[in-house]
Amino acid sequence: MNTNFSPKKKLLQTKIVKRENISDLMIKIWVTKPPEYSFKPGQYCTLGVNGIERAYSIASSPDENLIELFVELVEEEEGGVLTPIIWDMKVGDIFTMRPKAKGIFQIKDQTLNNYLLISTVTGVVPYVSFARTYLQNNQDNMKFHILQGSSYVDEFGYFDELQKLSVVNNQNLNYVPTISRPNEKRNLSWEGSVGRVNLIVDQYIESNNLSPENTIVFACGNPDMIIDIQNNLEHKKGFTVIEERFWK
Ligand SMILES: Cc1cc2nc3c(=O)[nH]c(=O)nc-3n(C[C@H](O)[C@H](O)[C@H](O)COP(=O)(O)OP(=O)(O)OC[C@H]3O[C@@H](n4cnc5c(N)ncnc54)[C@H](O)[C@@H]3O)c2cc1C
Repeated sequence: MNTNFSPKKKLLQTKIVKRENISDLMIKIWVTKPPEYSFKPGQYCTLGVNGIERAYSIASSPDENLIELFVELVEEEEGGVLTPIIWDMKVGDIFTMRPKAKGIFQIKDQTLNNYLLISTVTGVVPYVSFARTYLQNNQDNMKFHILQGSSYVDEFGYFDELQKLSVVNNQNLNYVPTISRPNEKRNLSWEGSVGRVNLIVDQYIESNNLSPENTIVFACGNPDMIIDIQNNLEHKKGFTVIEERFWK
């Protein structure tokens, strides 16, 4: 991530007010929004502990009082630095926060018909912010197609919320969670879509009559998924693809 930051700018502080374990490797945390802090749907905040800073996309809509995050643990043996520290943090603990939310992973044009929003696991976070913000504002023309890939059913994080929103806003939101390891014990109850998200996308595009003329594509999360989506949808099929890679 970009670590250019003027030391003259004061870091803000933010406190954990709620924490929810989603699975062994996933948590949601809610932190206070400093009074001077603002962000746009799709942007990320930069949190730190003892000078170790990382970017986290924001699931909240800008009018919510708290900043909601969905974080995956990268274990120390796999090179994780801040997330093992976050795993030991509890309600009341403090992060530093850079004073400005960042990121151009935003919906700039709200007049399009279809927003095909492809993600792996925590990459769904900016789309949760889009859904909370734009569906609530009744942007009737905008149809969101949220595709989320995950290894396990208990890692979607926003399954209930996105399912419910897709029922209430059935003309404006379609949510397709898909799991890549259908035969594993943890997934045996699953009756939904199976296969990696980048491999189900062609079929989805065809069945929903999406074309480069009526659709913009967003891809967020795992860089391999994003590269595959760019090669397939952008280079081969001519869609515009906007991307946010969570790591290199
Ligand atoms: C714009 C942006 C938004 C982000 N938003 C989120 C978010 O909403 N939720 C979230 O959990 N993370 C998000 N990340 C990743 C986050 O910034 C950290 O990299 C991540 O939490 C791991 O931090 P760490 O200090 O433990 O490990 P790091 O020192 O950051 O990384 C250690 C190693 O793990 C790799 N890595 C990082 N994340 C993952 C992962 N999820 N799976 C596998 N390997 C990984 C890194 O490339 C590196 O090789 C975002 C990153 C960016 C750039």
